[in-house]
Amino acid sequence: MSDNGSKAGPEPSERTAIGITFGNSNSSIAYLVDDKAEVIANEDGDRQIPTILSYVDGDEYYGQQAKNFLVRNPKNTVAYFRDFLGKEFKSIDPTHNHASAHPQESGETVSFTLKDKEGEEAEPSTLPVSEIATRYLRRLVGSASEYLGKKVTSAVITVPTNFNEKQKAALVAAAAAADLEVLQVISDPVAAVLAYDARPEAKIEDKIVVVADLGGTRSDVAVVASRGGMYTILATVHDYEFAGVALDKVLMDHFAKEFMKKNSGASDPRENAKSLAKLRLEAEATKRALSLGTNASFSVESLADGIDFASTINRLRYETIARTVFEGINRLVDSALKKAGLDVLDVDEVVLSGGTSHTPRIAANFGYIFPQNTRILAPSTEVTAINPSELGARGAALQASLIQDYEAEDINQSTHAAVTTVPHVTNAIGVISVNEAGEEVFVPVVPPETAVPARRTVHVSAPNGGDVLVKVVEGNTHIKVTKPEPKVKENGDSKAAKVEDADDSDEDDSDFSDDDEEEEEKREKVWKIGSTLAEAAVKGVKKNGKVEVSITVNSDLSVLVTAREVGGKGGVRGTLSS
Ligand code: ATP
Repeated sequence: MSDNGSKAGPEPSERTAIGITFGNSNSSIAYLVDDKAEVIANEDGDRQIPTILSYVDGDEYYGQQAKNFLVRNPKNTVAYFRDFLGKEFKSIDPTHNHASAHPQESGETVSFTLKDKEGEEAEPSTLPVSEIATRYLRRLVGSASEYLGKKVTSAVITVPTNFNEKQKAALVAAAAAADLEVLQVISDPVAAVLAYDARPEAKIEDKIVVVADLGGTRSDVAVVASRGGMYTILATVHDYEFAGVALDKVLMDHFAKEFMKKNSGASDPRENAKSLAKLRLEAEATKRALSLGTNASFSVESLADGIDFASTINRLRYETIARTVFEGINRLVDSALKKAGLDVLDVDEVVLSGGTSHTPRIAANFGYIFPQNTRILAPSTEVTAINPSELGARGAALQASLIQDYEAEDINQSTHAAVTTVPHVTNAIGVISVNEAGEEVFVPVVPPETAVPARRTVHVSAPNGGDVLVKVVEGNTHIKVTKPEPKVKENGDSKAAKVEDADDSDEDDSDFSDDDEEEEEKREKVWKIGSTLAEAAVKGVKKNGKVEVSITVNSDLSVLVTAREVGGKGGVRGTLSS
């Protein structure tokens, strides 16, 4: 059809634009209805549409129908191909493709060989991954067009933060070949934050957000600074071990062992391709059920050797056997924060995105990692949380509606920087004030990680009036740790310092006293005054007057400071180079 790129896209006024998350496991499509992004169900009623294509007698199936063919028709079913777009064969990881069509090397790219035509004697086709992506996207867009009753022309598509330019270009080309104009490719975590920030009740405030995007084959954690509605990605980590598929595997092993124990002499269902495929599908369904209920069943007809198998598992048992995966996910969050140079106390919100984020244990663990006032946005921790499987598509649909009226060139120019990495200040900039105790304290005006250029203003009170000296300084935070008072321990007899816990029965206190200490430790974020950037004296301020200090950080990180009496005339102004 088209030789992509070169073909001019539709006129802005003729666009119908949607948001798409094109995942390695699932995809979703969303559209804006009355300013609200809604995820669209396809013809099968699915909102999470498996990123799978399958061919049977020349007919093409996609989504859940294709997924079901993994049992009976694995060779002509392609799954887990998205991450191969724009990559060379030698750099891909084909682990997840062992139970479906195998990727193979073909020139510069990766391809799959499938029987996609009707007839016994029809030759199989060797299709590059770009063609598979095009066919899949065509189906996805077809479902959206059918639902909306008009042809979808354009989309904003989300991808992981480590998708490189070549991968993005391959995605845009694959979409163009499906007659879909890509307005913009945005990163998954930014789409998730956008979806939350677009809610009418959301306050656009400065905040640090950790987005844990937990999918099927990968987990990506990003630390995002939101400053005045601009997003800056401060750090990301990517992991291909601790994700949904690893949780499926835990349950598959559990039930396979139970099956063999109950049916002595029966073969291991993990050693036969068909049994393994059945085991995998049912394990995933059981896992999903365990996100909702505290008990779930597992039942497969003719699991192996013609033997039916049915069992149950409760959530506690599941959480015990899957502990290694959950701990792995915790460590990802930890390392993302370390990479960003931040502490858990710096984080205002944790957004859980991606299918695996439905898992209550993961959200509960984050609740332990972060302080109490950090909001954990997941279905099990916050009733108003948005469905984690829908965040990406919703964010993409919102972005699509914002930019669909622009000419294609303008979109490219204006929107890249805002959602990727933009220059930002590392330390906070603020003024020094004196607290009730007469101590000098730092009052942040421009928070750390603010994208530049930025301008912020603060009012400093001048109760005594007269000449007011304003000191503009850099500030950085450090974590103040207050250890609990040490317990005086003499052979376990004296527990003088444990007055607070006096209501505990004192019998076995001595056994626990060592472990308890860590829990009692108080950690708080405090500002440290850094180097002075500017000093300005505002003369003749009225008693109980106010001085307005305005700080502008330019794109080259030079700082402009102005100070003037509120309601007064004149003022002081000075520029500092970066
Ligand atoms: P990736 O690109 O990492 O492969 P994705 O972004 O394409 O993933 P998602 O839909 O975000 O796909 O995540 C898919 C994973 O989420 C699957 O492992 C699926 O089993 C899991 N999942 C979906 N719903 C639930 C649920 N309710 N509870 C637990 N896990 C779930």
